[in-house]
Amino acid sequence: MGGAVKDKIAEMKDWLVETRRAIHMNPELGFEEVETARLVAGYLEKFGLQVKTGMAKTGVIGLLKGEKPGKTVAIRADMDALPMEEANPVPYRSKVKGKMHACGHDAHVTILLGVARLFSSMPNQVRGNIKWIFQPAEEGGGGGRVLTEEGVLEDPKVDAIFGAHLFPDLKTGTVGIHEKEGLAATDRFVIRMIGRGAHGAYPHLSKDPILAAGHLITQIHSIVSRNINPLDSAVVTIGKMSGGTAFNIIPDEAEILGTVRSLNQKVREELKSRMEQVTQGVARSFGVDYKFDFQYGYPALINDPEMSRLVAAACAKGIGRENVEFIRPSMGGEDFAYYLEKVPGSFFRLGCRNEARGIVNPFHSSRFDIDEDVLPFGVEMFARIIDEYLGLKLF
Ligand SMILES: [Zn+2]
Ligand SMILES: [Zn+2]
Repeated sequence: MGGAVKDKIAEMKDWLVETRRAIHMNPELGFEEVETARLVAGYLEKFGLQVKTGMAKTGVIGLLKGEKPGKTVAIRADMDALPMEEANPVPYRSKVKGKMHACGHDAHVTILLGVARLFSSMPNQVRGNIKWIFQPAEEGGGGGRVLTEEGVLEDPKVDAIFGAHLFPDLKTGTVGIHEKEGLAATDRFVIRMIGRGAHGAYPHLSKDPILAAGHLITQIHSIVSRNINPLDSAVVTIGKMSGGTAFNIIPDEAEILGTVRSLNQKVREELKSRMEQVTQGVARSFGVDYKFDFQYGYPALINDPEMSRLVAAACAKGIGRENVEFIRPSMGGEDFAYYLEKVPGSFFRLGCRNEARGIVNPFHSSRFDIDEDVLPFGVEMFARIIDEYLGLKLF
């Protein structure tokens, strides 16, 4: 039986590559994935699944009701591309100027379509339900938040959810799993130092916001090193600073923008309150006013350890324990976190690195590409996880 499933997946390889390339050549940004959604819905209908469109604008949901009752498992792919120009000189290069699938979401969509094709070919062997979630806008838009608010995890109620991201740090044929903390909360801040401008030659008549902002930059970096427990993880990065118009004018204001990352709620709140205290203290010492604006982004992605162990066990049955690795969290972010706030599940990584083929570039690089062998591999890993969770014994 296992051999039969593996054969079915192997036979799909050309179609998977073709589908991935079609999506790759036509990248669409968050909440604009109209053509991608049309392609996805078209295939799901062809496979005979129940299909729902229009959730979170461009989301597509597929449902396979097994012939026997059981639990409901969901799997999710993100569909959006990035606003950047592709530099790969490949025949399937992006056809849309200034847009590119540089995060592998084209492959995520394709892998889930492969899983749909596989299970829809044997509905009589499915016990329980499988729900496919094709979501818009992972890259900052929070499509996952919108979908959970719109009830994507209800009707039928999802008992567990799994998702994967390609991972160019691991070679194709291997799986990386975060046991618990997987990715960070991605918060932002905008701090304005509000002083009083003057001629650059008469600083004593000013309250210099540039000098205050300069001190704030160094002070703020003491928070991670002095206030956060060294055994916790945290990042504060200032990505932009601005203020002033000319060499001889002290401006009225200066502004600092940045990102704050943490892996749990306690550290997240600690960072926020210490940042405001430090801002207040620096502002007071320079006699300037301030405005502190902290904007919560995606929450930290926290896997259910039991579900992570299920992923590890299911994948190891196919590829051996030596190819399944428990990996450390990353301080990047991922809106799969919203689903995991509601139901247990696990978000894991599919290796897509192939040094021999020159597939080594990081995400969001204009030269990011994938080893397409990850497509059938990803289908098999998801199929094994679903098999294990629903107790189907297909392999
Ligand atoms: Zn990305
Ligand atoms: Zn991504």
